Amino acid sequence: MSKRRLSLQQQRRISKKHHLDQELNADTATLSMGLVIARFSKQAKILELSDGDGDQHIFRCHIRANILDLVAGDMVRWQPGAPTGVVVAVMPRKSLMSRPDSNGKLRPLAANVSQIAIVIAPEPAPHQNLVDRYLVAIEHLGIQPLLVINKTDLVGEHTEHLERLKALYQGLGYPVIAVSTKQNRGLDQLRSALDGESTVFVGQSGVGKSSLVNLICPEAGAAVSALSLADKGRHTTTNANLYTLDSGGYLIDSPGIREFGLWHMEPAEVAAGFIEFRPFLGQCKFRNCRHLDEPGCAILEASGDKAISGSRITSYQQIVKELNQR
Ligand code: GDP
Ligand code: ZN
Repeated sequence: MSKRRLSLQQQRRISKKHHLDQELNADTATLSMGLVIARFSKQAKILELSDGDGDQHIFRCHIRANILDLVAGDMVRWQPGAPTGVVVAVMPRKSLMSRPDSNGKLRPLAANVSQIAIVIAPEPAPHQNLVDRYLVAIEHLGIQPLLVINKTDLVGEHTEHLERLKALYQGLGYPVIAVSTKQNRGLDQLRSALDGESTVFVGQSGVGKSSLVNLICPEAGAAVSALSLADKGRHTTTNANLYTLDSGGYLIDSPGIREFGLWHMEPAEVAAGFIEFRPFLGQCKFRNCRHLDEPGCAILEASGDKAISGSRITSYQQIVKELNQR
């Protein structure tokens, strides 16, 4: 897919540009744009973006010391060099996914993710509360959620519950795609939903994330399963990688990013992550209402009026109570 060898013309152009940049002492706006596809401790792999010849070239780069948190998905200005270029500046991020490290400090995982696909299935049993936790985290980051229902070939004791969840989230306006990796069902629709987006797959273990990623992007599937095996039993901190999809768009994946979740959040932030609560927020009797059992709560009243589903209120309250226990 990505050609590493450079044509003579490109080598000439790069070395010319290298000299120019050194003379101008790197006025960053004139430098090439690149996309970080992998981050190592002191280096990064950069996908050249500004090339007009249609081929995508990948370069290894050192990272300027003043750049601290560089992650997959970051857009950068960079300077070519043989054999190693230099990442000079990071462009402002549209979004940032992170998770706490073993010391509880938030570490960035991936930048500029535009879409997070939450995978659920009839087996293992789908939990609405887990989906809602993902949605709150995703809404908080300003990323577009996509619900993927996998294993539609299976019909079992949880099928009815799954259908209810599908109707609930579709009713809220979230896109839902039903697929089966076993029967190759719905995959074209999924591919077109990934086109033009930078997507991460999340979901509980066993729902079929590996199977899906393997089908959509075998390169990513192989890398993550190798890493998962190597990391078995340990708290996985492996950096995420970005993969270009043949069908269009990018996938960002790592064992760690698949375990993305909800960290500490204030009740007001949790409530804002329930999109149908938003019209009612600020209308409760008490300004600091937590929508648990307070009198004059606009959210609880809306639930009585059926404007908000009772199961979403229950889910909200469960999340707030759990976050408070930490
Ligand atoms: P992950 O833990 O989310 O990565 O899930 P895996 O991809 O490892 O899949 C877990 C199990 O579900 C495996 O045994 C898969 O073969 C199975 N599986 C994945 N997709 C499907 C599907 O569409 N239908 C059925 N019946 N099983 C599936
Ligand atoms: Zn309230």
